[in-house]
Amino acid sequence: MIPVRDDLRALEGYHSAQVDVRVRLNTNESPTPPPDAFREAVAAEVSKVEWHRYPDRAAMALRVAIAESHGVDAAQVFVANGSNEVLQTVLLAYAGPGRVVATFEPTYQMHAQIARITGATVVEGERAEDFTLDPAEVERVLTEHQPHVVFLTSPNNPTGLVEPADRVQQLLDFAPGLVVVDEAYAQFADWTALDLVDEDTPLVVTRTFSKTWSMAGARLGYLVGPTWLVAELEKVVLPYHLDTVKQIAGRLALRYVEDMDDRVAQIVAERGRISSELEALGLTVIPSGANFVLFRPDGHDGRAVWQGLVDRSVLIRDCSGWPRLANCLRVTVGTRDENSEFLSALSDVLSASTADFRSHPQTEQNGADR
Ligand code: PMP
Repeated sequence: MIPVRDDLRALEGYHSAQVDVRVRLNTNESPTPPPDAFREAVAAEVSKVEWHRYPDRAAMALRVAIAESHGVDAAQVFVANGSNEVLQTVLLAYAGPGRVVATFEPTYQMHAQIARITGATVVEGERAEDFTLDPAEVERVLTEHQPHVVFLTSPNNPTGLVEPADRVQQLLDFAPGLVVVDEAYAQFADWTALDLVDEDTPLVVTRTFSKTWSMAGARLGYLVGPTWLVAELEKVVLPYHLDTVKQIAGRLALRYVEDMDDRVAQIVAERGRISSELEALGLTVIPSGANFVLFRPDGHDGRAVWQGLVDRSVLIRDCSGWPRLANCLRVTVGTRDENSEFLSALSDVLSASTADFRSHPQTEQNGADR
């Protein structure tokens, strides 16, 4: 074995339980696939692909389609293999050794993880007990640490909370560097930072096809930002990084926006049902603007509740051992039937669970892509 970079030695890799269960509600995917018409349209175009040729390096047709959907210019759109690769490209360009990246915890762990991999120093701001973000803490982190890049996730993962617009505005007012608003779940919420993007504002908004577009299998994400920033990212990303098939799939997906809106409406309705039933079970529920719900089974051991659900063939996310998330569990909104199975398994587990809950030492999962 040869030694890896010193600064990578302590880093943990990606881990997310992949258990064979009937009901999988642990990775915030869409519970239903895109429409058949989409599959057929993709198959027809893919049958004409010139496999011996490299893809369109600029992915222009796809970028034009995305740009049109947001009423921006294609030169303001950067596309990559999942929004994780978008984030990585941003951090390769604007973080790196000697630079500072700020996050407000708990939040999506890949922001800090990728920043560290680029060699940057990560500063973690703290959220309040209820996971909201205090303006005084934002001001403290930005003025004390002068980060080159600062992240907000709205709706946040794993809490589901939507960041108030004035918090994003505050970041823009105080941040000395780039502000990244990760909007992987934006279509489930009631506002977007996209309207704040312009040529004079150091702001990018990242989006993904993995959730609302039902295309987690395709690995496609993008950002909208100033053209000068997109031009820098194009220098950093590998040539021909986005394959021809994916460019086709992404472009065609955008033609089925009504199906997407229907899926979102259904998920939002089910999210409401799950949240009120969890509350009716006496659990603490964090208000969600996303396609998942974070909850705390007070009076029970979260890890044991998670295991009880797995034993009943229902898999959700165990956040109970993660920093700042003691005893918390996160459930992705599934189909109506899946959600009903989850809720009935949960009430079963809770009634079986001993009333004399005693917390026991919990080990943190070494998960990064939470
Ligand atoms: N951002 C957030 C907040 C997420 O929760 C996720 C998915 N776990 C991603 C980005 C990455 O999404 P993808 O790479 O599938 O586009």
